[in-house]
Amino acid sequence: MIICKSADEIKLMQQAGKIVNEVLLKIEESIKPGVTTAYLDNIAEELIIKKGAEPAFKGYVGRISTKPFPSSICVSINEEVVHGIPGKRVIKEGDLVSIDVGVRFKGYYGDAARSYKVGKVSKLAERLYEATLDALNKSIDKCKIGNRLSDISNTIETRANKDNFSVVKVFVGHGIGKKMHEEPQILNYGIAGQGPVLKKGMVLAIEPMLNAGASEVEILDDKWTVVTADRKLSCHFEDTIAITIDGPLILTR
Ligand code: MG
Repeated sequence: MIICKSADEIKLMQQAGKIVNEVLLKIEESIKPGVTTAYLDNIAEELIIKKGAEPAFKGYVGRISTKPFPSSICVSINEEVVHGIPGKRVIKEGDLVSIDVGVRFKGYYGDAARSYKVGKVSKLAERLYEATLDALNKSIDKCKIGNRLSDISNTIETRANKDNFSVVKVFVGHGIGKKMHEEPQILNYGIAGQGPVLKKGMVLAIEPMLNAGASEVEILDDKWTVVTADRKLSCHFEDTIAITIDGPLILTR
């Protein structure tokens, strides 16, 4: 069952989303060659708590990993797709780094991810970054009353294919609200015109994950970090979007 939120609930989710955006802006200022991923996690956690929210990922038990996630953000570098665990790893010039932030505020969740180009990155990284961000933006444009859920999915896959990139299939976007992951699952691929009709008050976390090589992924021994099976580059962006009578309202920007 897809839950439609009231205007008051969307206002609360907007506050949660605003905190997520502030954390991502703080990360943008702080990410540079030489800093560790744990340092970024500390900065994020401090800010989330200062804002009166809770880090939603910390202690989270996933659908695949039964080991609680140990940190407040996910940091996924280069061939890492999503769910990288912050630690001693040092960010380097040329890295393509995805940062995923989730918070709970007054009972509601906000969830977003952005990728960051550290210093000068390869032409391929540049192209993959642009394609993934464009896939997200174009799919957000589909978040209109009367469209179908798979219009979002198809838009992401079509944009990826345009540059000969593939999409990750085993991880997906999701509804969001009083739980971080609600119905429906939002695939990053598929034919248009299928699935539930989009309605006012639906709130969706759309998260394209594009790979430079094949779409297959593996999970590392830490039970969380998802990497491309061919170890080629991957990129990830995500926003939380409310569907309103005025069109898509991006809660996390
Ligand atoms: Mg998400």
